[in-house]
Amino acid sequence: MTIIEYVPRLRTRGAVVRPGDRNWDSARQAWNLAVDQRPAAVAFPADEADVASVVRYARAAGLRVAPQRTGHNAVPLGSLEDTIILRTDALQGVEIDAANRCARVRSAAKWEDLVPAASDLGLAGLHGSTGDVSVVGYTLGGGLGWYARKHGLAANRVTAVELVTAAGELVRADADNEPELFWALRGGGGNFGVVTALEFDLIEQAADYAGVLFFPWERADEVLHAWREWLPTTPDEITSVGRIMQFPPFPDVPEPLRGNTFALVEAVYLGGEDEGRELLAPLRALGPAIDTFATVPPAAIAELHMDPPKPVPGVTGSRLLGELSPQAIDELLAVAGPASGSPLLSVELRQLGGALARSAPEHGAIDMLAGEYAYFGVGIAPAPEIAAANARQLDRVAETLAPYDAGRAYSNFTESNGGIDRFFDDETAARLRAVKADVDPDGLFQANHEID
Ligand SMILES: Cc1cc2nc3c(=O)[nH]c(=O)nc-3n(C[C@H](O)[C@H](O)[C@H](O)COP(=O)(O)OP(=O)(O)OC[C@H]3O[C@@H](n4cnc5c(N)ncnc54)[C@H](O)[C@@H]3O)c2cc1C
Repeated sequence: MTIIEYVPRLRTRGAVVRPGDRNWDSARQAWNLAVDQRPAAVAFPADEADVASVVRYARAAGLRVAPQRTGHNAVPLGSLEDTIILRTDALQGVEIDAANRCARVRSAAKWEDLVPAASDLGLAGLHGSTGDVSVVGYTLGGGLGWYARKHGLAANRVTAVELVTAAGELVRADADNEPELFWALRGGGGNFGVVTALEFDLIEQAADYAGVLFFPWERADEVLHAWREWLPTTPDEITSVGRIMQFPPFPDVPEPLRGNTFALVEAVYLGGEDEGRELLAPLRALGPAIDTFATVPPAAIAELHMDPPKPVPGVTGSRLLGELSPQAIDELLAVAGPASGSPLLSVELRQLGGALARSAPEHGAIDMLAGEYAYFGVGIAPAPEIAAANARQLDRVAETLAPYDAGRAYSNFTESNGGIDRFFDDETAARLRAVKADVDPDGLFQANHEID
């Protein structure tokens, strides 16, 4: 006798879009336009109760649930054939408690929803290089931003997480309640449930001395070597990026960047202009073609890194790197610099160290970031053959940098499959697996970086 389990209809106040529906293509679209997501359905729950309904329905129907907001890191998601993508877009809301310097966001909130309001109050969150990612997705993966060398990873400023678990229950995890789950969520990503709200501390930051020094790209060799030599002189109050860029000639790229190529140094200094000028003097002495450094409110650094403001098709590569010798910079430029023929849009090295290298017992699963530099490379992918050429070039860069690898990868910058052992030491990975087995034993939740 075949027993047919009764699967109730999925009833939500928010929309559920299925293959063949009129808005199917827009519902399943990720931020990275090169990703072709083909889930069983896309649900847009209206509120926390709706989230629980989707989770319970998926369980009963033998489907998985992939929480998603923007789809910025959709590439590593495996097959979605038996998965409902649960888009948190409707769970909007940002509350700032200025007196206690903390914030609560619901899961739809992007950093761009919080940064300007906090900035007006002389406060800042530990956001990254774009305001367009969700606070929740970014923070669950770690959160490496402009304040990182002074204040560490965003995940380690979190004070509470609310989530709908595999049982369809709304749970609050913090240092006192569900402490092991609270630990796992801070770095372990979307493996444990659908996060509906996040609470975290803000930093007091009235102004930054921040900007970009643009040099002609032919000077990449001189600029990146000078930047590397400058780094040991910088205090934790500075977080900087050494970078080479080839801007495409697209109309939405602003002048004077459009179609131009640069070597550049971006930096944010959490201090006054006089000290900032003094600290920056060795790089300024090189004579940049454009110098945008100024004292600005925290909101002004949200766009400093010039990330695309709208969804784009792209391919990326990343590594965390240890010490880089002058020879390592030479090798990087030989494969990605002016004489290399590289088509890559951007090749950057972010300065790590400082608070990122300091462990603390109250930290979550992502305690620190290994290494001295985070490498991130990007190529555009408007057509398959261009994507393939950029991917090949990214492979060459990754190979060149392999001897300098710090031994761990950073999940937010990783857009490939490969399991969590890339990100964590054995003890941390085992502890994450134990939490996953405890809260989601049937593997209902499908994260971009799955706990396997
Ligand atoms: C242009 C660009 C710039 C970036 N800059 C930085 C940077 O400076 N620093 C940095 O650290 N990272 C950066 N990132 C990486 C970014 O932080 C990650 O891609 C992050 O995962 C994006 O989160 P999202 O929710 O917007 O994306 P999504 O792709 O929607 O989510 C990514 C994953 O997060 C999890 N997730 C999201 N929402 C929820 C939820 N409500 N509940 C449970 N799980 C959830 C899921 O596992 C999901 O697969 C950047 C990415 C891009 C494309």
